[in-house]
Amino acid sequence: MKKYVLLIILILAASCSKVQLPEQDTGKPEIVTTLFPYYEFAKEIGKERINVYQILPEGADPHSWEPNPSSMVRLYGSDLFIFNGAELEPWAKSVLEEYEGNVIDASSLAELHEHGGHEEETEVHEEVHGFDPHIWLDFHTDLKIIDRITHELSEISPENKDYFLENAQAYKNKLTGLEEKYRSELADCRHKEFIVAGHSAFGYMADEYGLEQVALSGISTNSEPSPKKIAEVINLLKEKQIKYIIYERLSNPKIAEVLAEETGGNALVMDPAPTGGKGSFINIMEDNLEMLKTALECS
Ligand SMILES: [Zn+2]
Repeated sequence: MKKYVLLIILILAASCSKVQLPEQDTGKPEIVTTLFPYYEFAKEIGKERINVYQILPEGADPHSWEPNPSSMVRLYGSDLFIFNGAELEPWAKSVLEEYEGNVIDASSLAELHEHGGHEEETEVHEEVHGFDPHIWLDFHTDLKIIDRITHELSEISPENKDYFLENAQAYKNKLTGLEEKYRSELADCRHKEFIVAGHSAFGYMADEYGLEQVALSGISTNSEPSPKKIAEVINLLKEKQIKYIIYERLSNPKIAEVLAEETGGNALVMDPAPTGGKGSFINIMEDNLEMLKTALECS
């Protein structure tokens, strides 16, 4: 039965002229990732000696996106598939049953945080008991994922092992430097709470640096903020004299702007970075740090 599903996908892909099929075999290891951070990690480790493809399109919502036939063909033809897991890409499970390459489930390398707590009183939060899937926002997890990618690439292409190790180390040094910058620059701030007028994507970052994320919506982008939650946040903004409200780059800034108007503050943008499209992961995370420092009024 499963074989037929794959066959049908392949036929559909081949028969539709608009579908882009992968190019000729280049002899290089072919890596497919879902999220942008994993694309960047693989790219930085393998550079020109591998081909890396991010199948999640720029601007897509990783909570709800599903691959089309051409990305399926790409995926099934690859040597290594890197996905996030932790309930972010439920479709990946069925892919794995047929997939013959090496696999990295990034969430298996993370200390997953259970999601729950803040939204429990509100009505529609079926994902309350799930895990927070935004694991790439924890640099320690990223370092583990990078080591694992290096290991898998070295298995696929042993002649390049030293090259991969060297590149991985150089990139890890950059990430470690950035982690230290987060730690020192977020150490002395007026506020601990930062308000996200969106879904709660920044939980790992908050926990790592002793901050508190107050998000209007739940862990998934599917949930809408309740009027009760909005009222709570407005009270918190006033009580703590918080001036800045964060919205996510790919979401509508409207709620953040309305809240900012209500409290005489400003809306700031942060990027949870799953799809890329605006600089490197490192640059995005540097920008996020600047925004967070402004929001928290760090000295
Ligand atoms: Zn998310």
